[in-house]
Amino acid sequence: MRHANVAIFVPHAGCPHQCSFCNQRSISGSIAVPRGPEVVQTCREGLANLGAGAAHSQIAFFGGSFTAVPRDYMTELLEAAAPFVGEGGFSGIRISTRPDAITPEILDTLARYGVDTIELGVQSMVPEVLERNGRGHTPKQVTEAGSLIQERGFTLGLQMMLGLDGDSPEGAWHTARAIADLKPDQVRIYPTLVIAHTPLADRLAQGSYRPMELDEAVDLSAQLLEFFTGRGIAVIRLGLHASRDLERDLLAGPYHPAFRELCESRLLWRELETKLAEQRITDGSIVISVHPKNRSRLAGQRKHNLIRLAELGYTVRIEEDPELKGLTLRVRQDG
Ligand code: SF4
Repeated sequence: MRHANVAIFVPHAGCPHQCSFCNQRSISGSIAVPRGPEVVQTCREGLANLGAGAAHSQIAFFGGSFTAVPRDYMTELLEAAAPFVGEGGFSGIRISTRPDAITPEILDTLARYGVDTIELGVQSMVPEVLERNGRGHTPKQVTEAGSLIQERGFTLGLQMMLGLDGDSPEGAWHTARAIADLKPDQVRIYPTLVIAHTPLADRLAQGSYRPMELDEAVDLSAQLLEFFTGRGIAVIRLGLHASRDLERDLLAGPYHPAFRELCESRLLWRELETKLAEQRITDGSIVISVHPKNRSRLAGQRKHNLIRLAELGYTVRIEEDPELKGLTLRVRQDG
């Protein structure tokens, strides 16, 4: 079941770091910092909108540094949210934070207020990539924080980025394997975008940084989606959430508002290519069966996959089969 979370953005004003991709410093003055009463109001509205559905939803504090903000501010937010968790309310609270901002004492506090899911911004498990992008933490801190979170019984989410300065597909695979070895419950994959007023924007202008091409990012993300899914780890997001602010400040990089769908289309295409080769179907009329929800993914953005099939000499009929699971399909020669 899909969960519509109530989202509260917590900007980390005064963050001592300067990650290469983050424009926190330039926006922290212009973004309102939520206080307890606003959290109460947002939770009340969320509860009214979701009704009984709230029992399957969480209150989500996002922004990436929840446990690195001043402690009294963190508890103010949690105190405001906690009464909305439990019977008649939300299922729990999720937060996202830095790997070096997790301690046993912080976890005790989070648990006391009903936090049940913790996401860590890992971004990379390659030390040089972390350093070059100003993350200010090490892979070891990721491993230690992940273990602590799991030992305490929280749901663990890990976020990784692709195409950071100094990274490579090999680096991304190293990160993905290291992340999978930690056995998180969930993963998010974000291709790096160049946002105005960031160190990456300066490096782009100087010509010392080249962002990934969209096709390159889709291809790698699709493979990683398959990899994590195969390891039983849910990929709960692929690509940054589309927003007007993002589109306004975006300078370069592999952005697409339906990035996940592009990746899923790519996986279906690869599956189809494999099946056609296995069955030695080289052209002519074919019937492809997919789950109804994958029909448009199979066709691809602007029918990209269908156009490619036509160019290869296939005439295609699509059949829907609700029994087909995930991103799988069947193909047969028609007639
Ligand atoms: S992404 Fe980096 S710079 Fe931005 S708020 Fe988080 S830690 Fe600070």
